[in-house]
Amino acid sequence: MAVNIEAYRNLTEELKPFHAKLIAVSKTKPANDIQALYNAGQRDFGENYVQEMLEKASQLPSDIQWHFIGHLQSNKVKSILKTTSLIHGVDSLKLLNTINTEAGKLEIKTDVLLQVHIAEEETKFGFDKSEILELIPEFSSLENIRISGLMGMATFTEDMTQVKKEFNCLHELFNQLKTNLNKDYFTELSMGMTQDYKVALECGSTMIRIGSAIFGSRN
Ligand SMILES: *Cc1c(COP(=O)(O)O)cnc(C)c1O
Repeated sequence: MAVNIEAYRNLTEELKPFHAKLIAVSKTKPANDIQALYNAGQRDFGENYVQEMLEKASQLPSDIQWHFIGHLQSNKVKSILKTTSLIHGVDSLKLLNTINTEAGKLEIKTDVLLQVHIAEEETKFGFDKSEILELIPEFSSLENIRISGLMGMATFTEDMTQVKKEFNCLHELFNQLKTNLNKDYFTELSMGMTQDYKVALECGSTMIRIGSAIFGSRN
């Protein structure tokens, strides 16, 4: 299935009153599809796999903002730092320390979002809420990292009451952390995918990550 430009335009309109940013999630989709959406005006793209993102980045226009939204392994950090504009899924202190060290070697500052575990499912990655609060003192020593906000994934369910509860919980934590972290950087709340972005927007999302609604379903 080809990229759905009309759905893209409708989404862009729908987002305007919320002042939220659309991250077009292009994982598993060919560079041609990304180029088509780029031609329609989209600049922010999300990818889950390191090698795939690097290959696409090398083939596509250099003003694309690449968002790494997958699970990042420490040994891959070095290879993506220069390409990525924002790393969404940072979920351990070990990973934060690795990013800090590698960014320091490159003499750059790296923007990251802390991934928080908000879903009922056991398998999803992320910090626990209490864990993040305990780590606040450690964050200030990461001098090459800008903690730009939080990212979360709700339980995969049709029950939007449940989803709303989880997104509200993340927003609450966001507000709580905002008083402790650098307010100039700590501004983003990345939540909402194709099936739950409307709820996410109501709950204060500033970045929605949309794949299948734009690019069609994945295999
Ligand atoms: C794949 C993916 C998305 C996009 O999912 P859709 O349901 O296709 O919109 C968003 N966020 C993350 C972390 C993903 O892995």
